[in-house]
Amino acid sequence: KNYSHFKAKENLSKYGGRNTVTLLTGDGVGPELLSHVQEVFRYAGAPIDFETVEINANTTDPEYMEEALLSVERNGVALKGNIETKYDDPSFKSMNVALRTELNLFASVVWCKSLPGVNTRHQNVDIIMIRENTEGEYSNLEHENVKGVVESLKIITAQKSTKIAKYAFDFAVKHGRKKVTAIHKANIMKLGDGLFLECCRQVACQYPDIQFTDMIIDNASMQMVSRPQQFDVLVMPNLYGNILMNVAAGLVGGPGVVPGMNIGEDYAVFEMGLRNSGKSLKGKNVANPVGMLLASCDLLDYLEHHRHATLIRESVMTVLSDKQVHTPDLGGLSTTLEVIQAVIDDIKPKTKSWYV
Ligand code: ATP
Repeated sequence: KNYSHFKAKENLSKYGGRNTVTLLTGDGVGPELLSHVQEVFRYAGAPIDFETVEINANTTDPEYMEEALLSVERNGVALKGNIETKYDDPSFKSMNVALRTELNLFASVVWCKSLPGVNTRHQNVDIIMIRENTEGEYSNLEHENVKGVVESLKIITAQKSTKIAKYAFDFAVKHGRKKVTAIHKANIMKLGDGLFLECCRQVACQYPDIQFTDMIIDNASMQMVSRPQQFDVLVMPNLYGNILMNVAAGLVGGPGVVPGMNIGEDYAVFEMGLRNSGKSLKGKNVANPVGMLLASCDLLDYLEHHRHATLIRESVMTVLSDKQVHTPDLGGLSTTLEVIQAVIDDIKPKTKSWYV
């Protein structure tokens, strides 16, 4: 199954059928999960060379960010651990947001799908969540002109709204989906969310075979936890997308299992769907590696290494379902390394015949 929509450009950093991918290490469990991905890739024979760029909450010197951007611009693709954002210091701007805006990664895609062998309240959840990734409430425009009065600006543009709506409909077509729902609060934010909704409506007219509906964010939140099977593809402005993705991820197993991708016209960055750094889990060998592994499979699909993507994805599913090797967040007793070892053990016999 190919999760990506835009495929990688032909001129990506590639030699002899191999691709170079930037590894942005991040904080918390990011570095350890990324090193596990490298190990799994080695056993799967994935034709990827990694270029590691250390970037985390301590590398605040602009040089690090420049190096990270240059590396992604050169390689076209990155796999990323989340960078922690300190929220008690207003001068500390999110490096995650900066990366997404600098690289113009306008679409965030999180596919929340029930996983085999993972016990959850709701079954058969399969929601593709597409979120505008560069504007809205994340525009970084806040000021306090008068003490005690803060203005925090939310930017909605016709250009970006149309672009994300088009991306959502194209994604729906590519993956044979039937319905796109725009999530908004246009009853209160009549201009901003009204513009977003109008752009979605305009784009919907160009896709007569896909049903278009809209839903107010408060109702959508309630429907999401009571009857999530009704949702197919959702398209959302930035903050609603962030919140609703977290709700949906909770329905299919939580922050450890859901992959995420950030797609632009030129570059793509793959990471955990909920962008957690998991700092309280760091070094304890308990973080769930499934979300990062599935993100790495999406990356392989994006680079059109479908055989390796499918191999790893199927092994992850086997480990979750048939073998029931689960970390504590899924109610299991296994360590991160035990999950990784089980994935590698499942992969090994399958690749033997590939290289003889
Ligand atoms: P805290 O645990 O104090 O909330 P944190 O930095 O770990 O700090 P987040 O990174 O925001 O918090 O993660 C939110 C929640 O998701 C936490 O409970 C964390 O343990 C959990 N979590 C994040 N990543 C993973 C993972 N890979 N596997 C399992 N649980 C995870």
